[in-house]
Order: sequence, then structure tokens, then C-alpha cells
Amino acid sequence: MALLAVEGVCKAFGSLKAVDEVSFTVAPGEIFGIAGPNGSGKSTLFNLITGIPFAPDRGRIVFDGDDIQGKPGHAIARLGLARTFQRETSFDGLTMFENVLIGASYGKPDRAAAAARDAAAEALEFVGLESRSFGRLAGELSVFDRKCLMLATAIAMEPKMLLLDEPASSLTRPEIETSIGLIRRTAARGITIVLIEHVLTFLMSLSQHLLVLNQGRVLAAGEPATVIADERVIEAYLGT
Ligand code: ADP
Ligand code: MG
Repeated sequence: MALLAVEGVCKAFGSLKAVDEVSFTVAPGEIFGIAGPNGSGKSTLFNLITGIPFAPDRGRIVFDGDDIQGKPGHAIARLGLARTFQRETSFDGLTMFENVLIGASYGKPDRAAAAARDAAAEALEFVGLESRSFGRLAGELSVFDRKCLMLATAIAMEPKMLLLDEPASSLTRPEIETSIGLIRRTAARGITIVLIEHVLTFLMSLSQHLLVLNQGRVLAAGEPATVIADERVIEAYLGT
């Protein structure tokens, strides 16, 4: 059974159909890639799935057996669905540790304080942030460390599924290589991953299935090598 099933989901902003009849399923344990030119509706799709900041106009979203379309974002998060954002997002006036602790508590509010602290420390170490820097303010970190912090905050929620929105954007080549390794290790923890990326080569090396959006609609979907050889995909990318 699919862990996530998106069926005929739509979202319009005025006359702009940002997401238009999008359907796909993600199997447990896989890395599922979503590509598409800028403005094709990728981030909006994540917003619709997570319920933050808005729900779909139409369509159905089933996560781990629960209908989640229209549920508040915190309820969806507590079912085990976490995300990162395209822009690095953190509480800049709080320390790294405090940021991750908020994630740990948000995802699992019933957890004891000591268990939440353990989960936060483990998640920070997992993404490669050193314990002696846990007290640094999030706002002082480099772009790469801020992305790692955002990932750690999501991992500390102990989600079943993690949605990553352009984790490689504005990173250097070596940082991208590190990110690829980190995403693989995150998947190896048993977290199913849906990965948005504008750069197709990044997705090719990571994902088992690939979906390409264009102007809010599904242009192609399936096995990555087949999808990127599709003429419509090549045309959509060359056209941008
Ligand atoms: P992508 O992530 O693929 O680059 P987005 O999902 O961010 O694309 O945006 C898809 C389209 O929807 C774009 O044309 C964008 O300008 C528009 N859009 C996204 N969010 C909003 C919003 N909150 N209000 C109005 N238009 C939006
Ligand atoms: Mg986007």
C-alpha cells in the first residue's frame, strides 16, 4: 500500500492554476523525486500536502491510511509527515539546539522532555553538526549549516515521511555531494523521502521514481531514466 496517495489535487491563485489535477503515489521506503521548471507548482504541492499554509481547492490526499486534505498542519505533522522549506527556515534568535528541540516537541508533543532532548541531540549529530556548536544562534550559521539545521529539525520529529524542497539550492558542488549522502542516510533510517529539485541530475542519482511538473500539471512520471528521455520533459526544460 502507498504511504502517500495524492489524487486529483488542485490549487488556484486567482486565475492561475498553480497545481492542476495532480495525482501520484509514494511507496514506503522509497525516494520519490519531483522536478519541473521554476513556477511549475512544486512548492505549492508540498504546501497542499502539509496543509501549511493552505489546503487544496479540490482532490484527496491520503497519508498512511488517513485522509489529510483540509486537516490543520500540526495534525498532519503529528501523523508523521515532516518537511523542509526551499528557503532556509529557522528561529534565528534561538540556538541550534533550541530549534531542533522545537521540532522534536512539535512532532511528538507527548514525549517526555528528556526524550525530546535526546532526539534533538541525535538529529543534530546525524546531520553532521558538532555538539560543541549546539549553542550557536541559528541566525549566525552558513547557508549549508542552516539547511542541515532545518533537516535536523525535521528528523527530530521522527517522521515516517519527509518532504525536502530543493535541498541543494545555493550550495557548492562539494556541499551538494555531502547533501546527497545525507539524504541517502536519512532514507536508510527508514524515512520515506519526497524530494523536490530543479536540477535533474541531482534527482537522477537519488530517486527511484520521478515526476515532472509543468505549469501545474504532471508532464511525465515513472522510472527516472525513461522520464528524462521524454521529449516533453526535454522541451519543458529547454524552454526555461
Ligand atoms: P515551484 O516551486 O515549482 O517553483 P511554486 O509552487 O512556488 O513553483 O509556484 C507555482 C506558481 O504559483 C507560480 O506561478 C507562483 O508565482 C504561484 N504562487 C505560489 N504561491 C502563491 C501564493 N501564495 N499566491 C499567489 N501565487 C502563488
Ligand atoms: Mg519551489
